[in-house]
Amino acid sequence: MSSTLTAPPVFSPETFDSYVMTTYGRFPIAIERGEGCRLWDTTGKPYLDFVAGIATCTLGHGHPALAKTVSEQMQKLHHVSNLYYIPEQGALAQWIVERSCGDRVFFCNSGAEANEAAIKLVRKYAHTVLDFLEQPVILTANASFHGRTLATVTATGQSKYQQHFDPLVPGFVHVPYNDIQAIEDAITDLDEGNSRVAAIMLEPLQGEGGVRPGNREYFQRLREICDQNDILLVFDEVQVGVGRTGTLWGYEQLGVEPDIFTSAKGLAGGIPIGAMVCKKFCDVFEPGNHASTFGGNPLACAAGLTVLKTLEQDDILANVQARGQQLRQGLGALLERYPQTFSEVRGWGLIDGLEIRGDARLTSIEVVKAALAKGLLLAPAGPKVLRFVPPLIVSAAEIEEALAILGETLAELLEG
Ligand SMILES: *Cc1c(COP(=O)(O)O)cnc(C)c1O
Repeated sequence: MSSTLTAPPVFSPETFDSYVMTTYGRFPIAIERGEGCRLWDTTGKPYLDFVAGIATCTLGHGHPALAKTVSEQMQKLHHVSNLYYIPEQGALAQWIVERSCGDRVFFCNSGAEANEAAIKLVRKYAHTVLDFLEQPVILTANASFHGRTLATVTATGQSKYQQHFDPLVPGFVHVPYNDIQAIEDAITDLDEGNSRVAAIMLEPLQGEGGVRPGNREYFQRLREICDQNDILLVFDEVQVGVGRTGTLWGYEQLGVEPDIFTSAKGLAGGIPIGAMVCKKFCDVFEPGNHASTFGGNPLACAAGLTVLKTLEQDDILANVQARGQQLRQGLGALLERYPQTFSEVRGWGLIDGLEIRGDARLTSIEVVKAALAKGLLLAPAGPKVLRFVPPLIVSAAEIEEALAILGETLAELLEG
């Protein structure tokens, strides 16, 4: 074996930034190694990981079952074209269909791509099934996040992500989240000539936009409105699917089934994958309509299947529920200790947020930086919300440890 192929790269931020586009504001550390919920940087400093690659490393780092699957699949077969049947892809699709409200799956490689597929499916459905409809409109929510491709960044209801990228894709209208009147008004306003609302696309809980859970009554009314008006209900489950909320799918928290939903981040535990799942009645894709070279390859699908089977076999959803409760209880105690600084603790399972009051000077990024220095990795969800999305295998002791580090961090920032 040639050691030059496997030698670790020498790292310096300056060299990195001179070659790689600075699309991220990066923290000045480089992670080298991981095990469970623990990471080590290139200087050997350990961190407790409550970011999990942004809600992606479902089984944590170096999970033996995932490592075994990926290395065995790599030696057997890692990629072939979708010109041929891929058994691992069929098995993963079957697993998803048997445990969700969906009937058919399309595989791709990321969340944005899964949402693009959903948007294309909605448009083809509108043009072919509701064939009077020449200008289908998709309603999405303010503060939503759906990805960075042109169509998904247009769908995203946050202008900061759209600035300088116009002209954006036509056919999207944003409405306030959890506001049924706004939906009814938009449906009426947009119904003119050959234009009409064809779909409503929402996150069951807004992740990036501030860890805001959907309201049950709102979503149940939305389902009725969609049924009455031939509107497709699309859920972006890219961040909340695959056990993150304590149920397998985020929509189970709302008691509402979508017609189409998308999944990506946690689906293969960190191996790139995306999926768009739909009910049979709206599966209007035919050969040649949509494709992806890498989508659904044996490596990613074998990884996805192992993640899902492990979730089930190890009863990880029970852990997500218990650890989530423990985490929110601890965050609630911090809120009580600093009522001038924090306004709310919210979330489902292991996607939880601690909101900083609008009138407090503290920002989420300040806390994230200070916690990182103390060995705890956290992600902001906007300027005023701290997001907690650890691997779903996180232990009670690790939740306690994270809360203790956060407590020390806040004591220094707010009392020091
Ligand atoms: C992360 C995210 C996306 C985009 O996923 P990528 O894999 O980065 O393209 C889309 N929707 C939601 C809800 C997300 O959290």
